Amino acid sequence: MQLVLPDFDVLAADSVETACSMLRAHQGMAQFLAGGTDLLVKMKLRKLMPRYLINVKGIPGLDQINCDGDRLRIGALNTIQAIQSSETVTREIPMLSRAAGVLGTMPIRNLGTLGGNLGNASPSAEFGPPLLVLEASVRCLGQGGERMIPMTEFFLGPGKSALHPDEMITEVHVPTPPNRAKCVYLKHSLRKMDVAMVGAAVLMLLDGDVCRDVRIALGAVAPTPFRARKAEAALRGSKLAGDRAESELLEEVARIGSEESSPIDDLRGAASYRKRIVGMLVKQGLAQTIARARE
Ligand SMILES: Cc1cc2nc3c(=O)[nH]c(=O)nc-3n(C[C@H](O)[C@H](O)[C@H](O)COP(=O)(O)OP(=O)(O)OC[C@H]3O[C@@H](n4cnc5c(N)ncnc54)[C@H](O)[C@@H]3O)c2cc1C
Repeated sequence: MQLVLPDFDVLAADSVETACSMLRAHQGMAQFLAGGTDLLVKMKLRKLMPRYLINVKGIPGLDQINCDGDRLRIGALNTIQAIQSSETVTREIPMLSRAAGVLGTMPIRNLGTLGGNLGNASPSAEFGPPLLVLEASVRCLGQGGERMIPMTEFFLGPGKSALHPDEMITEVHVPTPPNRAKCVYLKHSLRKMDVAMVGAAVLMLLDGDVCRDVRIALGAVAPTPFRARKAEAALRGSKLAGDRAESELLEEVARIGSEESSPIDDLRGAASYRKRIVGMLVKQGLAQTIARARE
């Protein structure tokens, strides 16, 4: 069956202010159009029927990636491919370029943007778990001016974010992790190009054989990507001596992480299977980051 787009008009915005005022003028009837890889699919499926698409791709200055001191500033219009191939991102936070590299296929990565990935607010958004463990913030602009939304407050539910109806994401600010911290993002999907059945990001900071800090975030297994705080608390401050006690502890932390998830049954996998995968990915993520920290 061939799906056809409903009728719409395209409005071209040449600045964030213009884009936001267009959105206000057509409130409830307009959507920003970046890469269109989420939006146009939803329109074809009649899940969204905006009368106006506000093309934001021509807004200058939102495709920059800058490192100022201890944080990266990644413009919302950067494509996924630009993030994957950015030398700055690869050098400062390799986990982010790896997460970009497992999102969809090359044509999707060439079109899709970071702003669209967050703006779509999917529970399986690839950038959700990595940006949560990195404690990033989303910079946005609207009628009320500019504000920063911490990632932990950004996702509100499937397709729902903390953005006000007239706000546009302009940048994502990502603190570079402390020097010795190790991060990993792991994705499980049926085929490599598919949306995640489970995504897990882990950040580990070891001090000798003590876990000084650990952050664990999960995607595609709850209404929003989220931090698995109980699993983190079970590990933070513990001694990791590479012995049997460590292996039992990691097993327990993975079990708690799995308990914290609340996946649904869908085409991508059964809830019970996803819960098992959560445990496996959390354990793998912990083991990989601990091994790297010991190198
Ligand atoms: C075949 C296929 C495979 C895919 N695989 C994956 C995958 O593995 N992982 C994954 O996470 N996603 C995947 N996606 C989804 C999609 O490609 C990504 O989420 C992409 O990053 C969306 O970006 P976009 O620029 O195309 O967004 P758009 O489709 O242009 O926009 C998406 C939504 O965000 C809003 N929006 C766009 N930009 C902004 C902004 N700056 N501020 C506020 N709101 C904004 C739009 O109004 C719209 O509601 C896949 C999609 C397809 C079609």
